[in-house]
Amino acid sequence: MITRRQWLVLSSTAVAAAFDAVPPVSSASAAVPDQAAPSSDAGPFVLPPLPYPADALEPHIDAQTMVIHHDRHHAAYVANLNTAVANHPELRSRTVDDLVANLGSLPGDVRTAVRNQGGGHLNHTWFWSSLKKGGGISPGAEFVKAIDTTFGSFARLKEALTASAVGVFGSGWAWLSLDRTGTLIVESSPNQDNPLTAGNRPLLGIDVWEHAYYLKYQNRRRDYVDAVFNVIDWETVQSRWRAARG
Ligand code: MN
Repeated sequence: MITRRQWLVLSSTAVAAAFDAVPPVSSASAAVPDQAAPSSDAGPFVLPPLPYPADALEPHIDAQTMVIHHDRHHAAYVANLNTAVANHPELRSRTVDDLVANLGSLPGDVRTAVRNQGGGHLNHTWFWSSLKKGGGISPGAEFVKAIDTTFGSFARLKEALTASAVGVFGSGWAWLSLDRTGTLIVESSPNQDNPLTAGNRPLLGIDVWEHAYYLKYQNRRRDYVDAVFNVIDWETVQSRWRAARG
C-alpha cells in the first residue's frame, strides 16, 4: 500500500528524474511585468520541474501559458509558502500535503498563508502530473467500473467535472475526489483550497483560475476545460484512486 505521503514523495522523485531543465522564461517576462521572478532557494519547499517540456500539451494548453503558469505562478506559491513558515521551524520538516490536510493544527498566524500558498503549491504539483501528452484515453476497466457505479458512465463523469469546472465562480478548482466513505465525488473549491482539508482524497484537479487559460482561451473557460480532457493522464488518476482506497 502506498500512503498519500509516500505517493507524493515517489511522484516528486519521478518528476525530478524525468526532466532536469526548466524552460527559459524569455518572452513570458514581458507578459507579466508586475510579477518579479521569486527566489526558490529560501526554504524547505521546492518548485518541482514540469514533468514534460512546456510545449508538450500543445495545442490544448499552449507553451507560453505553461511557462508562465509554472515558472511564475507556481513558483510564487512556493516562495510565499517558504516565507510563511520561515518563523515556524516546526513546520519546515512537514510535507505540504500534511500541512494542507491539517490546517486546523497550525498556528493561527500562518494558517491562512498555508491554506492559500501551500494549497497553491500542492494543487499545481498534482496538476502537472495529472496531464500528459497524448493523454485523454479512458481509464482501465477496474476504475471505469467504479466510475460507472457512481456516475453512470465515463461520459457522465466528464459532464459532471466539466459542469463543476465551468460553474466555479471566480478562481478555483474542480475535482474528482474520493470522499471519507470511499465514494467517488465531483466537487469544486474556491481559490487554492484542496479537498484534503475537508478529509477527502483528491484524484484529479482542474485549475480554472484565469491564469490557467486566458492567454489562449480568453474568457472561454468551457473551451479550455474541453481541451484539458485531451491531455488528462487517466493512468495517474487511476493510480491515485488505488492508493487512496488502500
Ligand atoms: Mn494555477
